[in-house]
This record gives sequence, structure tokens and C-alpha cells, in this order.
Amino acid sequence: MKAQVFRGVNQLSYEDIPEPTLEADEVLVKVKVVGLCQSDIKKIRYPLYEPPRIFGHETAGTIAAVGSQVKNWQLGQRVAVMHHIPCMRCNYCLNDNFSMCDTYKNICTTAGFTPSGGGFAEYVKVPGHIVQNGGLIPIPDNISFEEASFVEPTNCCLKAVKKAQITPGQTVLIAGAGPIGLMFVMLVKYFGARAFATDLLPSRIDKALAVGAEAAFEARDANLANNIKVLTDGMGVDVTLLAVPSEKAFFQALECTRKGGKILFFAEFPDEVEIPLNPNVLYRREIDLMGSYSSSYRWQNLSADIIFHRRIDVQALISDRYPLKDLSQAVEQAIAPTPQTYKILIYP
Ligand SMILES: [Zn+2]
Ligand SMILES: [Zn+2]
Repeated sequence: MKAQVFRGVNQLSYEDIPEPTLEADEVLVKVKVVGLCQSDIKKIRYPLYEPPRIFGHETAGTIAAVGSQVKNWQLGQRVAVMHHIPCMRCNYCLNDNFSMCDTYKNICTTAGFTPSGGGFAEYVKVPGHIVQNGGLIPIPDNISFEEASFVEPTNCCLKAVKKAQITPGQTVLIAGAGPIGLMFVMLVKYFGARAFATDLLPSRIDKALAVGAEAAFEARDANLANNIKVLTDGMGVDVTLLAVPSEKAFFQALECTRKGGKILFFAEFPDEVEIPLNPNVLYRREIDLMGSYSSSYRWQNLSADIIFHRRIDVQALISDRYPLKDLSQAVEQAIAPTPQTYKILIYP
């Protein structure tokens, strides 16, 4: 089968590799669509993981083979694939920190080499632990593979929305209106809160408004904090979601977030970045700083419900489709987005 193998920093190689062979409890999925995620791009561009690996984890496809002991799954069934499932027993899991669970981190879907997602291939193998514990989600007939590929990123964004305890009537500033920031706008609105967004690209500012932001601003706007205050009775927003790894966006967030509000780091920063912070921001103003990484098993069903009932319009986020052989080009476009670049989907 064909796969895009990560052979080193910025080296993707389109290769013929053997199809994965199945153990008795495993399932093989023929990949129909896989979303290109910022985290894939980071894994390709920085020396974070030893090659060779096959990335790609926002996967939707059909079941192509099942191991001899697999019950309840049939050939041809359409599924969204979760690349991780937690153990549900360790101390992390019992405290709802599923993404810190060792099982969650270590057991992963694979198309070959060290398990790393495996969506950037024609076939991906789903380990027994994931098959048995809810990691395959049937796709309703009326929902496309493209839409289903959004269940995983929706879960990641939903986890952040829940962690920040965003409730109806609250105000939320979303820094960065790329594919993730736009999804935040949609989710925040779906949960009854008011979304404001910032971005550097005028096209993304317009897009944020089109998908439900009440107001959207140029990220360099010197008046941003004032504009936000005007929209929030002089208080500032209840929550800021940082969907860009920008130090500047963090300091803007400090200015725009109300006393007692929350700032949530969603985008991963480069390791060398350090942000100086006066601790009295946390003490006198009682700002809560928090981070949200990856998805939550707690919100997996709700994420699927949101996608499968079209509670948010993920189709409005899709801007480009590339064949698997052109993954490098897709990565280039995501790094240097044109005004009309949003979510990029990959077709094996
Ligand atoms: Zn992702
Ligand atoms: Zn666990």
C-alpha cells in the first residue's frame, strides 16, 4: 500500500509499504479521508519524534478486515477512528486527565513503524484496546467521511471549551481564526456564549464573522482591549482561548480578560519560548491560566453528536483537498496559508 512515511525533519517520503497484518482482536480500516492537523505539521517540521513514522490521526474510513475474535464490526462499515483511548483505571483517568494516561499516550493506531496515528496511508490498523473501548465510531449514512474526520478535532476543541467552563451568556475571546480558532467560534456559539475573534489575515477575520463571531478584530489592533471592553460592559471577556502560539496574543489576553477570568493555552508553543509573568496577575486579578492538550474520552460521544447532527458547520471550514501523494505540498500550504486556506483534508 501507499503511505507517507516521516523519514526525518521535513522529509516525507511517499512509499510502498506492506499493509498492516492483524492480530485476532484488531481491525483494519481503509482510510477515506484524514484531516491535516497542526500537530501533524509540528511533528513533521521539528525533531520531536524518531523516524520512521506515519502520522495522521483525524481519520475516517471503512472497515477492510477484522481479526478472528472481533465481534460487532463488519466489513464495509463506515467509521471514524480515534487514535487513542485511555485505560479508564489509572489515577489520571480517575481524575478526568485522560490525555495524561500512559495507555492513552502509548497505544495508538498505526500503518507501520512506531505507532503514530497512521492516517497518512491507505490502510490503518486499530489495536484491540481501541476497538474494544469505543475508539471506532460508526458514521451515520447521511454524514460524509469528510464531516466524520472532524470528530477528533472537535473533541479536542470541546475539551478546551469544557475545561474553561464556558457557559451560556459568557463572553469568549478566541485568539487566532485558523481552522481551530474557527471551530472554537462555532462551538462557543453553539454553547450559548458570545465569541469574539482576532487574526492577522483579513480573510480569516471575515470568516470568523461568517461562522458566528459577534465581532472580530485585526490581531495588531492597538485598540483591541478597548474594543473588547466596549463589548463586555467594561469588564473584559470571561475566557480567552489562545489558538495561536503567540506571546503577544497572551499579553493581549491578559488585557482583554476580566478579573477572575480564564486564559486557556490551546496552541502548542515552541519549546524555547518563555513568557515572563508577574504572579500578582494570578493573585490580585485572580486570572486562571490553564492548558488543554488533545481530546477527552469524556466528550467523545458529545463530539460525535455535534458532528453527526451538524450542530456546527464543519463543511464551512474545509478549504483544500490533496491526494496523499501531495502531502508535502499540503503541509507547505498550511504553514504559509493563502487568504482562503482553512482546513486541509487528505485523500489516500
Ligand atoms: Zn488533530
Ligand atoms: Zn489511564
